[in-house]
Amino acid sequence: MATLGPLLSVLLFLAAIIAAFWYLRTEEIDREVESVKRDAELVQQQIRLRLIDNQEQLVRLAREVVTHTIDRDQLLGQAEALVRERPEMVSLTWLSQNRQVVARHVSPDLVAAMPRLGTPGTSDQTEEPRQRATLDAFTDARETRLPVYSRPFRHADRLIVFQVHVPLIDHGNFAGTLVAEYAIDSLLRYFVPAEVSRRRVISLLDAEDEVMVSTVSGRPGRPSPGLTYTVPFAPVDHGVTLRGEGYRTSVGLVGNTLFWMVLALSALTLWMLFGTWRHMRRRLQIQGALVQETNFRRAMENSMLTGMRAMDKDGRITYVNPAFCAMTGFTEAELIGRMPPYPHWPPERMEESSRLLQQELAGRSPAGGIEVRVQRKDGTQFDSRMYVSPLIDSRGHQTGWMTSMTNITEAKRIRDQLTASHERFTTVLEGLDAAVSVLSVQTGELLFANRTYRLWFGGDAHWHTLLAGRPPKSVDELGDAIDGMTGLPTADLEDAGADAREVFIDLQQKWFDVRARYLQWTDGRLAQMLIATDITARRRMEEQTAHQIERAQATSRLVTMGEMASSVAHELNQPLAAINNYCSGMLTRLRAGTLKEEDLVSALEKTSKQAQRAGQIIHRIRQFVKRSEPQRQATRAADIVDDTLELAGLELRRRNVAIHSYVAQRLPVLQVDPILIEQVLLNLLKNAAEAIDNAQMPPKRRTIELRVVPRHTPEMGGVIEFSVTDAGPGLKDDVNHRLYEAFFSTKADGMGIGLSLCRAIIESHQGRIKAENLYNAESITGCRFSFMLPVGTAGDPSKTSEIH
Ligand code: ADP
Repeated sequence: MATLGPLLSVLLFLAAIIAAFWYLRTEEIDREVESVKRDAELVQQQIRLRLIDNQEQLVRLAREVVTHTIDRDQLLGQAEALVRERPEMVSLTWLSQNRQVVARHVSPDLVAAMPRLGTPGTSDQTEEPRQRATLDAFTDARETRLPVYSRPFRHADRLIVFQVHVPLIDHGNFAGTLVAEYAIDSLLRYFVPAEVSRRRVISLLDAEDEVMVSTVSGRPGRPSPGLTYTVPFAPVDHGVTLRGEGYRTSVGLVGNTLFWMVLALSALTLWMLFGTWRHMRRRLQIQGALVQETNFRRAMENSMLTGMRAMDKDGRITYVNPAFCAMTGFTEAELIGRMPPYPHWPPERMEESSRLLQQELAGRSPAGGIEVRVQRKDGTQFDSRMYVSPLIDSRGHQTGWMTSMTNITEAKRIRDQLTASHERFTTVLEGLDAAVSVLSVQTGELLFANRTYRLWFGGDAHWHTLLAGRPPKSVDELGDAIDGMTGLPTADLEDAGADAREVFIDLQQKWFDVRARYLQWTDGRLAQMLIATDITARRRMEEQTAHQIERAQATSRLVTMGEMASSVAHELNQPLAAINNYCSGMLTRLRAGTLKEEDLVSALEKTSKQAQRAGQIIHRIRQFVKRSEPQRQATRAADIVDDTLELAGLELRRRNVAIHSYVAQRLPVLQVDPILIEQVLLNLLKNAAEAIDNAQMPPKRRTIELRVVPRHTPEMGGVIEFSVTDAGPGLKDDVNHRLYEAFFSTKADGMGIGLSLCRAIIESHQGRIKAENLYNAESITGCRFSFMLPVGTAGDPSKTSEIH
């Protein structure tokens, strides 16, 4: 709108200028036309007056001819005088009644130019129009008896002439004409005033509007077509006209220059307007951007939780943001313009606040900010941290200081809490008896070591690696276990490696229980944590116990054999007696000489077999009793059962107790020490047989059942269960819970270490043993001892390692 007004006025101005010019120009043309008209009429008037004057002379001459006042020669003399005086008249001729030339005078100029003119009647092509014009005018003059002008015609190519026929009337009769010929160009030359011919082009036009003659020949200036005026060329008539033409005046040229100047100025103005418009548009855009930027900054400022305060170099507050007001509780009006002391300074700290302000104004505030206490309007106080930066204006001069303020009460509280919790954490860690160390996976450096670790190993990362058994896996090795996006270990990895290892460190002569796991260190790096507990004492005790148990086992086996000595003796007695029989039999027959060779062979074979049997018994007992280190090996349950039954057979037979055994097919292989398991089984069978025998059970209750079957239990998984069921008196109530006590026995000669050892053996194989009575209604029908051994677990010896 601001640019449309000027644009419109410029255009209006231009239109007005154009209209004014147009009006002036029309006015001028009108005036010019008027002047042309006047000039043309003036010329016409001059020529007409001259022609009429000539015509009167001719009429006078004609009268003198008719009245015979003058004769032919006198006429010629008068004619000569007339033509000489009148340059426009080129000839004077007396024509008779029948158009014969009576007398003729031709101007000497014409004769000189065209000698042939002197001889009328000569016929060439130029004579034709002349004669016709002469004839027409002659006829008309005869008819009207008035002077008649002929139509102009071309006279010998060059000259255009017209004639005037003045009739000769002799006593009312037509007696011929006096013919004067006028040269048209002479008429113009002599009767157009010089000032007119300077200004105008005066031309004579024929009936076809063809220019016959003109005051200018070569058309030097172009006459303007609008500036013409035509008048009939009286008294000649015959459609001949006189035309005046005006030249284009210089006013037009001057007007044009002015006009073009105005036009150029208008164009310039328009161009400037356009420039202004563009400039304004740019300014508007910049203004818009500025407003947007300001709004953005304001929104930012309003959303900010940091308080901002600006002051000039004297300390007068010039600006506070909403966050500052919200923090202190003072309004903008209460703060702006204030000089120190400020209302938010705590009264008891005026001096300190003032000192800090002086420091601030001097530009000596630390870059890390200063901690100050601020009092709210309601009197409460809080801790804040202030940062100061110089306030620079657009010309680069410092005008004051800008202070930003954050409430750090909460941060401080959290920091204190963190410090406290960190202290607790360190106290606990440092107080631990175990060595705790954290090793960076990437760099291999020790990230953390507690007091115990430092005490035992110093600050050396080497011991961490030794305890861990191997250097922590490198990042490359961990490979897929590390999350590709963040470089952090996955949970799997963190859980991995938590199994305990027992490590012997030669330097300290100590055993350590070592637990290692991967974790994400505080800086996000992957690290390995190790907790090493000193278990040397426990380890020694365990070793001693194991040693004792081993001895006890051997002793127990000896005891068992001692107890079974009578059975063994009885058992050995049989083959020995048989051998004795065979030998004495053979001796008798040998002495009698009745011994046949084949009988001898058969008897010797039998003797040998019996000896082998005795040897076998002794060998098995020796095997059983021999003290050996516990040795686990892949063992089939059926083999254990077979070997045990063979040993138990001696005792069972002696005590007259029957045994039924059942071993399930396709049992998995056990990882056990077969001698120890045999010892357990033998002990159970012996106890059962003793219980039956001691209770003097009737024959049908003198049976034992041995079963070996696969089982599955929730806590142990796949197991093999061995059970020994007897039909004896069962366990007495008070016995039941003391069964596995060492040296507990109900028998007069019992050692009471059998069952306690059995339990130790089974548990060292990660197995379980239990005893229960069997009932038929209220009465006890026997009791069952059973133990289960896990399948496939070879109580892991790799868990223990020694470092020397
Ligand atoms: P010992 O056989 O030398 O007495 P054990 O530890 O083998 O020592 O047995 C402890 C006690 O458990 C026995 O004295 C006996 O009272 C009881 N006992 C063991 N097995 C049976 C059984 N099959 N029936 C009844 N009582 C039994």
